Amino acid sequence: MTSEPQSPARDFIREIIDADLQSGRVRRVITRFPPEPNGYLHIGHAKSICLNFGIAEQYGGECHLRFDDSNPTTEDQEYVEAILRDVRWLGFDVGDRIFYASDYFERLYELAESLVERGHAYVDSSSEEAIRAHRGTVTEAGTPTPHRQRSPEESLALLRRMRAGEFPDGAHVLRARIDLASPNMKMRDPVLYRIRHAHHYRTGDAWCIYPLYDFVHPLSDALESISHSICTLEFENNRELYDWVIEHCDLPARPRQYEFARLNLTYTVMSKRKLLELVAGKHVSGWDDPRMPTLAGLRRRGVTPEALRAFAARIGVSKHNSVVDVALFEHTLREDLNLRSPRVMCVLEPLKITLEDWEPGHEETLDAPYWPADVGKPGSRSLPIDRELYIERSDFSLTPPKGWRRLAPGAAVRLRHAFVIRCERVVTDADGNVSELVCRREPDADADGSKTMGTIHWVSARRGVPLEVRLYDRLFESEAPGADDSDALADLNRESLRRLDAIAEPSLLDAEAGSHWQLERLGFFFVDPVEAEQGRRVLGRVVPLKDSWAKQTEPARPREPGRVKPAAAGRAREPLSEAARALAARHDLSEEDARVLAEQPELQALLQEALTVCQNARSVASWLVNELPARHRGAGAASLPFRGDELGRLVQMLDQSRITAAAAKRALAAMLAGEGTAEEVVRARDLEQTSDEGALGAWVDATLAENADVVARFRAGNENVLGALLGMVMRKAAGKADPQRVRALLGERLRSG
Ligand code: ATP
Ligand code: MG
Repeated sequence: MTSEPQSPARDFIREIIDADLQSGRVRRVITRFPPEPNGYLHIGHAKSICLNFGIAEQYGGECHLRFDDSNPTTEDQEYVEAILRDVRWLGFDVGDRIFYASDYFERLYELAESLVERGHAYVDSSSEEAIRAHRGTVTEAGTPTPHRQRSPEESLALLRRMRAGEFPDGAHVLRARIDLASPNMKMRDPVLYRIRHAHHYRTGDAWCIYPLYDFVHPLSDALESISHSICTLEFENNRELYDWVIEHCDLPARPRQYEFARLNLTYTVMSKRKLLELVAGKHVSGWDDPRMPTLAGLRRRGVTPEALRAFAARIGVSKHNSVVDVALFEHTLREDLNLRSPRVMCVLEPLKITLEDWEPGHEETLDAPYWPADVGKPGSRSLPIDRELYIERSDFSLTPPKGWRRLAPGAAVRLRHAFVIRCERVVTDADGNVSELVCRREPDADADGSKTMGTIHWVSARRGVPLEVRLYDRLFESEAPGADDSDALADLNRESLRRLDAIAEPSLLDAEAGSHWQLERLGFFFVDPVEAEQGRRVLGRVVPLKDSWAKQTEPARPREPGRVKPAAAGRAREPLSEAARALAARHDLSEEDARVLAEQPELQALLQEALTVCQNARSVASWLVNELPARHRGAGAASLPFRGDELGRLVQMLDQSRITAAAAKRALAAMLAGEGTAEEVVRARDLEQTSDEGALGAWVDATLAENADVVARFRAGNENVLGALLGMVMRKAAGKADPQRVRALLGERLRSG
């Protein structure tokens, strides 16, 4: 039951690194983890930290912790400290490799001046709106603003005055001069610097112009000689700009960017902005609220660094976005906590029982092992027992359902570590509520466990200690909180925290802050270290015992202790998310297509556009999910040279049988190459399906004449060759023929001939 070995998986990034080392492109592997200090780190960041620091460890290289702090208005020293604490807690040694992008401001500015001098950048004095309007759309090229023609001298003079603080915010920006017609919007003269009269938490008021991410990031990487700059998939479109910046500045190194899929978890929001909203709106007690997916929250919850690292290893690294079931995370926690948590007893909602055959005032002490036999660890504690005990109210039923194995009037149950009792009498209060049970001990008729008597936990009423227990539930009720741009706060689970005045066995009096326990039958718990600092003893539940993940996957889990296949572990068996289910229902999509669309808002946007011209959502979705990515490899939806409605027109033609599927694929490739609209490429390449029987017949006849040997085999009884002949005709027809009609025609000629 231990966590699986954390040996690094063979993922595509490690394959790239191996190849780079082999070819000599890279001598020393240097990665970086570049958080912006504008919030606390969350479990998604842990994936990135494990990847970057893990790679550095594995290859004997190093990983830089770099604060990506070029936005003065959102960043703060508090966050820097929290991030340092969290990375170290995860178990990675940052040593002296702590860097700040803000340390490079002077150097970045020099590089900006040199870009201007060489004509690669200019100062634009247009408003933000004007710049946006001139940028064009995905289907239309941008147009230059009047300032694009500025000479290097004029731009340089303005840039220097910008830096000197002569202009208000927004008066000018520095833009790269790249390509306003680029299919990649990021390349249409991106802004490199803007004026912002704001105090920076490190550089103070030294600067009033600040560089933007796309300028800062590649340059910081190069200045630190990073070999592999690993980021999440949203930055795929930024890569071209990343390379442009590196190429056009004079730098000591040429880092390269690689993208991997970010971690998404069901029932969890994973954006610092949304987490900040929870904190600022006081929906949680702070960044370290144990319900938060922040590392500070998870730490306070009782999640260990080892469990987080095992989880990161288990989910692996992939190139495709997916949502991991939070149940898989909880399953990993249980595996980790099982060996750390001595078993003790605590009653959350006490119901008093009196053993009428026990002499009043008499007390005994049981020696109860801390660990179950299968864990096999030594250690035990003394457990006092006497005439009055507490059991869990929910372990008694006045009207037990069929198969009830706990206490009921006249029924017997085993007390953990003690003996069997039978309920003789039920005492009720004035309102008719059960207030006490009178029981008697009896011989254990089921000592070998062959009958179906249950075992319940209990605590001595006199010696038990009062204790606050907190039960945490998911912060959000919905599987995909805030999906479809809805307000995540609307999905908040109002009952995510329950506080109970519980009674624990006395051994828990000595429980140290930050220690793990299993409260029998209730779950794994952690003595809240933050409450302990205030002198309060609070036991918070890390995770209940019931393992929905293990149950869900039981038949499919490998017997041997080997690794669960990375990524697939989260994916294949994942139930459809709520967002995906809603999409599938709304548009009658296949589950698989809905799943992909739900995870990729850009594709959903294209679907919406397509639906304005084509009603067949199922068909459009299938093209978006299957055909488009296959032909538009590596590039995001933002760099498509056409909009969704154009794809809609193409699918419409297919739907109306104007073109065959093969022709539609060809047309799509041409559209992606920027050859025109759907109508234009179909016309230009003459892809429209032929309805002319004469043309079809000619293709069929020609094929049969050229393949007399195949025809002979068909006539000798080998009907399998029909498929081959069909393929040959279709190729001759260049996708313009309806395969069903060709098949019919072929059959006719072969049988008649
Ligand atoms: P958020 O969207 O939560 O605000 P961010 O990307 O803006 O996150 P950064 O501080 O810029 O936050 O992130 C630092 C690094 O962590 C980046 O390299 C980013 O790609 C990575 N990262 C952020 N979120 C995730 C995630 N969910 N899974 C994996 N890596 C992540
Ligand atoms: Mg970011």
